[in-house]
Amino acid sequence: MSERDYVEKDYYKTLGVSREASQDEIAKAYRRLARQYHPDANPNDPKAEETFKDVSEAHQVLSDPEKRKEYDRIRDMVESGAFAGGRGGDSFGGAGGFGRAGPGAAGMDLGDLLGGLFGEGAPGTGATGAGRAGAGRGGQRGRDAETTLTLSFADAMAGVTTTLQVAGRAACGTCGGSGAKPGTSPAVCTTCGGRGQVLSDQGLFSFAQTCTACGGRGMVITDPCPTCGGGGAVSSTRRVRARIPAGVKDGARIRLKGKGEAGLRGGPPGDLYVTVRVHAHELFGRRGDDLTLTVPVTFAEAAMGTTLRVPTLDGEVSVKVPAGTPSGKRLRVRGHGAPKTGGDHGDLLVTVDIHVPRKLTKTQQKLLGDFADTEDPEELRAHLRPGERVQA
Ligand SMILES: [Zn+2]
Ligand SMILES: [Zn+2]
Repeated sequence: MSERDYVEKDYYKTLGVSREASQDEIAKAYRRLARQYHPDANPNDPKAEETFKDVSEAHQVLSDPEKRKEYDRIRDMVESGAFAGGRGGDSFGGAGGFGRAGPGAAGMDLGDLLGGLFGEGAPGTGATGAGRAGAGRGGQRGRDAETTLTLSFADAMAGVTTTLQVAGRAACGTCGGSGAKPGTSPAVCTTCGGRGQVLSDQGLFSFAQTCTACGGRGMVITDPCPTCGGGGAVSSTRRVRARIPAGVKDGARIRLKGKGEAGLRGGPPGDLYVTVRVHAHELFGRRGDDLTLTVPVTFAEAAMGTTLRVPTLDGEVSVKVPAGTPSGKRLRVRGHGAPKTGGDHGDLLVTVDIHVPRKLTKTQQKLLGDFADTEDPEELRAHLRPGERVQA
């Protein structure tokens, strides 16, 4: 399947489903049509064979949520007119396509546009960085793979080396990814002579269209590999060793180059993106490379000053609370935060939370009453009454 097919073929129409169809509906429609047009059920009927191929191709794209998303995206761009001048196929039938001058010109421009489009580098597009190679004769770069790794707070702080289970496409072991039955090799497509495109006449004009015999690859597999059916790839779960650096943050996305899905027909592998989830710690919060900790102190401690013993990732440290520390004040303990790349650490930010007793004993009530007599709360709030002179 080439990128061009994405533009030219309406896979939803092929399967007779709406664009909003669920994966289940797509699977059902495919099963019904595949049964109806299967070559075994329609011997020597090239038309049925053609339909069967189209249905299979549509299913291959729409049944894969990743591929379907990409297909929808490209179709949206086409339908919005982004490629109005470059429409090559008759499935769109719009007048825009007829503005092009010579035969083949439309196809060429479209290809160039798509080359840029597919080179965007978004992960998971299946052709990231491959440019035209994806549509050409060479191997196709493997798709990027995604996985999620959940770590405890302690593991995230220390860093871990772990084995990830990654589901996806891997090179077929039987044919080594070529798609050809061992002992045979792909042949040049006789329909298009290896160009991957054929010219189709439409009245005065002719248009370059993807060769349906080879799917635009220019080569056909005459003896498909029995394991992968000619695709060169099989679904598998792979084990990938990954080193997660110390101090990794919740939500971090780590790229492991070349650890994605295997390329097709000798293309390079894609990349693996690991999204890291970190469990919350029961005491520490996190702000960038700093760790946060809230420590309750009494009013007397805050007013008169004290030295606190607070936990860190590596044992307790002393934190001096100066006399007259207000509630909510943040005290910085240097170097006791999360590990940073390069070996440094962030800081531990200790927030002082002044604790107000819910209940007072008789003694406390008496002492606090005596204390209150020495204070002047009206003076404290004098600034809230502008213009009014407050009695001392
Ligand atoms: Zn194979
Ligand atoms: Zn061909």
